[in-house]
Amino acid sequence: MNRTYHPPTASRTPRGYARISQARDGTTVKVERQRAEIEPFAAARGDVLTDALWHVDNDKSAYDEGVERPGFNDLLRDVLAGRVSTVYAWDQDRVARDVGVWEGFLKACRSTGTRIVFRTAGEMDLTTVNGRTQTRFNAVMARHESEHKAERVEVAARHRAMQGRAHGAVLYGWRRVYAFDGSGVQIRGQWHDEIHPEQAAIIRECARRVLAGESIKALARELNARGVPTPKVMDQAGRRYEWEAASLRMLLLRPANAGLRVYQGRPQFDAEAPAILARGDWDRVVATLNDPGRRTVSDNRVRHLLSGIMKCAVCERGMRARRITGETTLRYLCPAGHTARVASKVDWYVTETVVDLLVDRDKINGLLCGDDAAVADATRRATEIAAEIANWNTDRRNRLVSREEWLRIVPDLQAELEEAERAARATSTRYRDLMEDVVGPGAADRFSALPISRKRAIIEALFAIRVHPLPAGRNARGPFDPSLIEVKPRRTDDAVAA
Ligand SMILES: [Zn+2]
Repeated sequence: MNRTYHPPTASRTPRGYARISQARDGTTVKVERQRAEIEPFAAARGDVLTDALWHVDNDKSAYDEGVERPGFNDLLRDVLAGRVSTVYAWDQDRVARDVGVWEGFLKACRSTGTRIVFRTAGEMDLTTVNGRTQTRFNAVMARHESEHKAERVEVAARHRAMQGRAHGAVLYGWRRVYAFDGSGVQIRGQWHDEIHPEQAAIIRECARRVLAGESIKALARELNARGVPTPKVMDQAGRRYEWEAASLRMLLLRPANAGLRVYQGRPQFDAEAPAILARGDWDRVVATLNDPGRRTVSDNRVRHLLSGIMKCAVCERGMRARRITGETTLRYLCPAGHTARVASKVDWYVTETVVDLLVDRDKINGLLCGDDAAVADATRRATEIAAEIANWNTDRRNRLVSREEWLRIVPDLQAELEEAERAARATSTRYRDLMEDVVGPGAADRFSALPISRKRAIIEALFAIRVHPLPAGRNARGPFDPSLIEVKPRRTDDAVAA
């Protein structure tokens, strides 16, 4: 390219300049959007900005200095070479933010008779001192204005948040009630949100069942099967939306459920609209859904009551329901082949055992006694002990403690840890959530009506089940011997003499 060549005025072309950068008022405008807005604007002034006439910098940096801007540098060079008739850009911030850089650009444009047109402010008059000063002043004022506007918007938004006023459209679980004047005309801005009974009931049901250990996936599936309408009912093609695990999860995690108003990404104020869930329940739903160790037993592939829950007493592996080729009877089999049982018989026996316990509210309460503080205590204790064990192990690896010393301490700590974990588990409110609506007289009917996932969760919470191999000479088809099925309460407390 020959830099000394000055083309005649006729060969000058308009140019567009676009750059993603954050403006001083905090706004960003994408390059594509800048182009989409500027091109028709330029066309209306008789300038067609083809792709080749654009100079684009994709840096997101807030400052001009020290940032390589090849697009801007090319543009400046062409301006200085007299090749440019008009420069189009979104606003001054996009072109240059630094006063020195801006003055340099202004000077280059002025000396070559290049016009500057901003999409946001129109053409800048560079022909007079007053015009230039005015453009600078305008630019400053425009920024001042936009900062003030942003501030006003911000103040209003914060004010609404502090009042707990909902932001935007009514949320699932509530309905919006508008106010009308005497002649039936809706009064602008006057409305409140109240509980939508059916939708709120869905949220409460899902919350309760999540606390009971059911999986979000299974819940979403069930809601679809029941034909429960989703927050969005129809798409544009008129198809019904389906519940999905991810969106149901988000729905349950919303602070609004507990009457909290989110502001700047986190719950900060009390919402004006009534809560759907008690604060403590919502807290537990959030903790449950965010628990990385969460185990749900409602995987859709699990169709058998004890599959995986019941362990082989020889190898401790989960037994799986399977049909032996050529037979109709379903059996639970140890994957290593140690033993097998006819599924219907074990299912019946375990169900009877569980129901025996569930009808007795006192026994269950004894089993699940303990308050939240005790759980918190035990959990904290377990965490501390685990950390202590980790320290001992590190020290031992680094040869900072002797083997004797380590052996004197760590096994005891291990035992303490197990005890603390057991205590935390046994008294966990989660277990109470799991079965409190089943417990008591008539538990047999209520239990049998539960979905298999819930039954499995209850069984697993209450019992460890192990199956001992049949003595030689007996096979699974023979009479059922309950003494070989070890149904052991997880909490071996006198309260549960199962
Ligand atoms: Zn086995």
